[in-house]
Amino acid sequence: MDQKIIYTITDESPALATSSLLPIVRAFTKTAGITIEEKNLSLAARILAVFPEYLTEEQRVSDDLKELGEFVKDPNANIIKLPNISASTFQLISAVKELQSKGYNIPDYPENPSGETEQEIKKRYDLIKGSAVNPVLREGNSDRRVPGAVKKFARKHPHTMGPWSKDSKTHVASMTDDDFYHTEKSIVLSRADSVKVVLAAEDGETVVLKESLPVLEGEILDSAVMRKSALRSFLRKQIADAKEKGVLLSVQLKASMMKVSDPIIFGHMISIFFEDVFDRYGEVFERLNINPEYGLEDMFSKIDTLSASQREQIYSSFEEVYRKQAKLTMVNLETGRTSLHVPSDVLIDASIPFAIKNSGKMLGFDGKMEDVKLIIPDSAYAPVYHNTIEFCKENGALDPKTLGSVANIGLMAQKAEEYGSHDKTFKIPYCGTVKVLDGSETVLMEQSVCEGDIFRMCQVKDIAVKDWVRLGVERARLTHTPALFWLDENRPHDAHLIDKVKENLKLLNTDDLEIRIMAPGDAVRFTLDWIRSGKDILSVTGNVLRDYLTDLFPILELGTSSKMLSIVSLLNGGVLFETGASGSAPMLVQQFLKEGHFQWNSLGEILALTESLEHIGNTCSNQKAAILSDALSKATQLFLENDRSPSEKVNELDTRGSHFYIMLYWARMLAGQDEDEQLKKIFGQVAQSLEENREKILKELLQKQGTGEDLGGYYLPDSDTVSSLMRPCKTFNSILTSLSDR
Ligand code: MG
Repeated sequence: MDQKIIYTITDESPALATSSLLPIVRAFTKTAGITIEEKNLSLAARILAVFPEYLTEEQRVSDDLKELGEFVKDPNANIIKLPNISASTFQLISAVKELQSKGYNIPDYPENPSGETEQEIKKRYDLIKGSAVNPVLREGNSDRRVPGAVKKFARKHPHTMGPWSKDSKTHVASMTDDDFYHTEKSIVLSRADSVKVVLAAEDGETVVLKESLPVLEGEILDSAVMRKSALRSFLRKQIADAKEKGVLLSVQLKASMMKVSDPIIFGHMISIFFEDVFDRYGEVFERLNINPEYGLEDMFSKIDTLSASQREQIYSSFEEVYRKQAKLTMVNLETGRTSLHVPSDVLIDASIPFAIKNSGKMLGFDGKMEDVKLIIPDSAYAPVYHNTIEFCKENGALDPKTLGSVANIGLMAQKAEEYGSHDKTFKIPYCGTVKVLDGSETVLMEQSVCEGDIFRMCQVKDIAVKDWVRLGVERARLTHTPALFWLDENRPHDAHLIDKVKENLKLLNTDDLEIRIMAPGDAVRFTLDWIRSGKDILSVTGNVLRDYLTDLFPILELGTSSKMLSIVSLLNGGVLFETGASGSAPMLVQQFLKEGHFQWNSLGEILALTESLEHIGNTCSNQKAAILSDALSKATQLFLENDRSPSEKVNELDTRGSHFYIMLYWARMLAGQDEDEQLKKIFGQVAQSLEENREKILKELLQKQGTGEDLGGYYLPDSDTVSSLMRPCKTFNSILTSLSDR
């Protein structure tokens, strides 16, 4: 059997860290006969891969994402996937510019394409934007949990939790009608077919929104609408209410995931918050081709092209609004970046849990942490955050010392529940009726819509649901924890899922297990009560809550979600191990560039590797792989106990030094085991050399800090430069070389 681990190369901090860690991983795993194969999923590589005809022979790169998309269907797939950039339009354009400046003759990104060629170019680029990688690779359902070693450590050394007061004014605001939740319709297909989506306008004209969408028997299909006028009046009311209540204001979306719907909602937030400015300068904005969906930063960069006097006028009317309205939450105080500057800055799943951890407060423009109104327009999942916040007001902050753990099994396979993204969400061009038709043109569902409404559709394949229920049952049984399905019987889509869950549970014979089904709002209350008493529980959820809960609970339990194990149980038997959150990835690169100190924590990669090796041990009867895995798990405990994670401060241990310790502890554990003589001998020597040179290596690594660094590029840094900066210590490198050259 193929004993290979695929390792993905990505962007920013994870890519930098990998260039130091991967040589270690390669040398260690070679002793068990495992090869490591790299696949490049960086934004730069993905761009170059789709424009071969614009490049010279030498410049062309293979389409690694496409290859991996095939490989995930292989039963032997064993992939370690690092976080990559989910590119906003702004990031995409920056990357294109950088590549062009490096002699890659790729076309500009045509924001407003004219003609067929430009439209084709835009189409290729748009497929690279947002969460373009994960949907291709996630050919399975999701299994996420906190590793035992990490949980034990967190309970012993709890992170700080801000206290909660009953008088906290922090709250969630959601729409009560005319949002996706309240307009949802859902059907189950009785046979395989191809459906078509059309917009029948009031004047009789019909536009095809989606020509054909293949569907299978038993597939759930649903549609919903966010009505523009309702959304805008809701936002207007909430903005005024935040001012009245004297709280900060923050709109909570996930533009990188719901990449069609959420930027539109974000744009409405901007055009309403700054309504006075838009009223006064609407024409100028139109001339400048301003689209608020790209955020204030993009708007300002276009306004900056005007004459000084015009510019000043416009900016002063922005200032007027800032003075008059409720205060916005801030992303970066130094640069004055508000939460309306860049749509991809606002990530509901990360920002609300951190607010909960910080007594329900967020950062205001004067640097003070204050109570906040959290606007979550769609009401489907808002109750999860609402009830968590109310729970903290009633019971005080949760205590990480005693808190149980919430694992998650998430429905994700075959593009399940990919709401608001990709090819099934549309901004409606004019009033009429959206009709979903089957192959014989019979109407399956219809929604009446108006200009500017957002129509979204989503699908869930029956086989994905079956596998999801099976995985949930398997984990519940293995971990002896109750399983809670977070499904809302009042939602048409969830009602269909509930039927299927019940059907499958019957087939799986689960009398020995404790299984419940509850709507998200109730489920979160039940779960918080449960874990507060120190007990563990399994949440079995749809795709969106998979994303949200696997940040919410880890941030409450551990203070971070980067230490979660995230596994995709691929439908054909392979496994994909995903590593840590990338939220801090760009900031840490900035610090490295400024002061030569790099604090990306590779723990997520280490945890993934541990599982990946164990998987090889189990499925390929590779005893050495199992021993490597076990030793790495023990090394991780030691790593945590001795606090060898990178420090935040310059001239203290950074990522490179922490990799030294991983190698040292891993070698030590391998030298200390008695199951495999050969490994014991090899790593006895490695451990000894590392031990003997420890002071010297750590000193050399420290001396490399303190001065700014230049990577020779951001999206496509110079690989030799990166390698020499991330592996600057000759003594360390030569010990590693002697291991890999054996
Ligand atoms: Mg998430």
